[in-house]
Amino acid sequence: MGKQKESVTPKGVLLVVSGPSGAGKGTICQMLREKLPDLGYSISVTTRQPRNGEVDGVNYFFKTVPQVKEMIERGELLEYAEVYGNYYGTPRQYVMEQLQSGRDVLLEIDIQGALQIKKRFPEGVFVFIVPPSLDELSARIYKRGTDSEDVIQRRMASAASELTYAAEYDYIIVNDIAEKAAQKVLTIMEAERYRVARTYFIVDKICKGKADTNTKE
Ligand code: 5GP
Repeated sequence: MGKQKESVTPKGVLLVVSGPSGAGKGTICQMLREKLPDLGYSISVTTRQPRNGEVDGVNYFFKTVPQVKEMIERGELLEYAEVYGNYYGTPRQYVMEQLQSGRDVLLEIDIQGALQIKKRFPEGVFVFIVPPSLDELSARIYKRGTDSEDVIQRRMASAASELTYAAEYDYIIVNDIAEKAAQKVLTIMEAERYRVARTYFIVDKICKGKADTNTKE
């Protein structure tokens, strides 16, 4: 007799992607969104200034410090962290609604935020993107050209210690070629959909004589 499990209705997969600045997680997440048009993307709030070309409500919701503090007090953020001197946070309502409606959701957040999310959503899928080397990381941050020298120095100083948090994640992806790295994350998502915790309801249905084996594609 097989082990009895609680029957779980299929819900969306919460995909959390982190990695040091310059590891290329932004590019990979952009590719994922193109390849998975139905993937919900949580737009974070931040108190940092918009970079050239960034649009409020598209890249981030740009807020003041008092506005973010108010959101924290009202419990409107699922997680938040101070990163390089600015607040960043994930609005709760959007993520919860999407997951409950069965849609997968992508969070591109820092390690502190990912660890908070892991406590609340241990069933989430936690992917850590690493660069092929620290030299390559430094080259990418300089090439991006969006940050001042002192910000770059701070980001590089954090990178080495951030890498040690990789052990807290479920998967590590080396981003040598972004397209290939994105493909690997897609493969992970594909496999995650068939986890027992997400598919046991099928066995339940079969046992009850309702043979409907459609899983969420
Ligand atoms: P950037 O300023 O380069 O856009 O982002 C800086 C860092 O903040 C990145 O590691 C990014 O993933 C992270 N980040 C962006 N949004 C959030 C968020 O909502 N929560 C947390 N904890 N980190 C975030």
